[in-house]
Amino acid sequence: MVGFLEGLKITLKTARRKPVTAEYPAPDKRLEVQDRYMGFPALTWDGEVGEPYCTGCMVCIRNCPTQCMSAKMQDNPLHAEGKSRRRKIIEEFEINLGRCILCGICVDVCNFDAIEMSHEHEMSKYERNGNRADLPALLDMGKKYQQATAWQPKQPEKNSGVPPPPKALPKTDPDMPAPIELVAVPREAVERRNAVMRERAAEREAQQAAADSESQEDGQS
Ligand code: SF4
Ligand code: SF4
Repeated sequence: MVGFLEGLKITLKTARRKPVTAEYPAPDKRLEVQDRYMGFPALTWDGEVGEPYCTGCMVCIRNCPTQCMSAKMQDNPLHAEGKSRRRKIIEEFEINLGRCILCGICVDVCNFDAIEMSHEHEMSKYERNGNRADLPALLDMGKKYQQATAWQPKQPEKNSGVPPPPKALPKTDPDMPAPIELVAVPREAVERRNAVMRERAAEREAQQAAADSESQEDGQS
């Protein structure tokens, strides 16, 4: 009897508790995923410069165990205009999400804060190869993830694309003498000066030799 009452007590207590599970796929009954949830990989967007963080370095592609990624790099036009620190930028990027195993290796090996495991997970398709996400799609997933998690790069100093401010010119001290101006001397003038110096050296040597011979003669007499 005591055991029965104890069991009944637990049943009544549990019956009043809010459910911790959600009815799937009812959209209004779903639970929010946690920030640490690892969905499909997505590319991050550098909003300060207006371009992806990805430089197309291919490190993630070489390390992906299922070889489901491909990319193409290009020279960054914004760098040429002085608007970005990134010399290279991604031109094309594709992940075959049907082959991705959500291992997160691509995120671990990326040195540019350019890829994250987003919260996207309901992306099934009926076609065998219909789940290829291209660059715009991956960036859209990334922007959504960045907004949802207030994402910040792990290495902002290293990976920000914002160009450094121009270097300030050194302050001039009014008491300092004016800097010496270097003037290019014509080659002929240098040669003339060298010839004069050679002549003078020869004269000095001749005078020295004459003086030596005179003193020798004096010594013999
Ligand atoms: S996501 Fe990172 S590792 Fe992959 S190509 Fe872009 S910069 Fe390189
Ligand atoms: S999560 Fe793993 S399998 Fe998926 S793209 Fe990244 S490295 Fe490849």
